Amino acid sequence: MTNTATVAPSAQYLADEHGYFGEYGGAALPPHLVEPIAEVARAYAEASADPSFHEELQALLSRYVGRPSLLYFAENLSAHLGGARVYLKREDLNHTGAHKINHTLGQALLAKRMGKRTLIAETGAGQHGVALATAAALTGLNCEVHMGAIDVAKQHPNVVRMELLGATVVAVDEGGQSLKEAVDSAFATYAANPEEYFFAIGSVVGPHPYPSMVRDFQSVVGREARAQVLEAEGRLPDALIASVGGGSNALGLFTAFLDDPEVRLIGVEPGGEGLTGDRHAATMTLGTPGTLHGMHTRVLQTAAGEPSPVHSIASGLDYPGIGPQHVRLQEQGRGEYVSVSDAETLAAFQLLTRVEGIIPALESSHAIAHAVRLAPTLPADAVLVVNLSGRGDKDVDYVAERLAR
Ligand SMILES: *Cc1c(COP(=O)(O)O)cnc(C)c1O
Repeated sequence: MTNTATVAPSAQYLADEHGYFGEYGGAALPPHLVEPIAEVARAYAEASADPSFHEELQALLSRYVGRPSLLYFAENLSAHLGGARVYLKREDLNHTGAHKINHTLGQALLAKRMGKRTLIAETGAGQHGVALATAAALTGLNCEVHMGAIDVAKQHPNVVRMELLGATVVAVDEGGQSLKEAVDSAFATYAANPEEYFFAIGSVVGPHPYPSMVRDFQSVVGREARAQVLEAEGRLPDALIASVGGGSNALGLFTAFLDDPEVRLIGVEPGGEGLTGDRHAATMTLGTPGTLHGMHTRVLQTAAGEPSPVHSIASGLDYPGIGPQHVRLQEQGRGEYVSVSDAETLAAFQLLTRVEGIIPALESSHAIAHAVRLAPTLPADAVLVVNLSGRGDKDVDYVAERLAR
């Protein structure tokens, strides 16, 4: 039923040979990492031109992940909001409960193809680490996940999951003991032994080729959704809505629609407790040009050029940077970026749970919250597709505690 054949977007939406989307992207790396990352870029270029690589990945996506994921018409939610017909792309129904498995499997297959034995990564909230440890268990690779010591304590259930899946969790107790130190530690370990390790990144961020590669692995989401909405409605949707942390679930949904200018592409970032203080992670709205994690992009940064502390009710969205292609899409007038607050997100989480019996991840609840705003302003024959990037079981204890306060 769903057509998952690859149709590349037009060249204006692809990176150039150095990984630049306009001025953004590239590979800003210390000298000792230039060659290992260039090796990844060469291997990915070769793999992505090889039909057998795509077949192998597609087989895992259908046999193991359970793709295609449903495109669900949320009839109760649509009636409740009044206005547009709202569809949910059900990435929450994937094995492991979110979209991240799409790109960790892709990177695991590439690592094997390159002859690497160990997947290495950093993780903050632990979602990337768990998806990566899952892919490693399936494909027979080792997995080493670096985490700030504070995050290890905060994210205990994810640490247990990773260890059960066979991963080694390295607690980093330098400096602030958080994501920044974990990134540095994972990169240092990788650089010391690039024959052994494949560095796996959890979103459309980092040096070239990762923003393009992770987007390609996620783009199955939009290819399916495009065929599914055409089948259900006989036409393309008026808008797509997705949450944006680094931006991988958003580009996953958007990519198959880039050359359909009548389809609005809306990314929703975390407005947290408001845009006036520093308790948010609204990088597209308030960030400035800078270099972070090997890419030139927009960054929430201090006057001294250090990444700012960021906050979101959804731990998967609190990142001070953004995938470089999103900055370019906004400049091209193709992507629109808005923010919603923690309070709106919590209300959307409760609403979807009550009217549809679907508990969304707090990350995905940002996209729902914007649909709650937008749908009532549109006519009854308008169609919205919201990316339900993950399920909310991981968030229920936190939500219960917030609501009790
Ligand atoms: C990690 C995560 C996100 C944010 O990451 P993107 O790269 O912006 O998609 C969103 N939703 C869920 C469920 C996640 O786990």
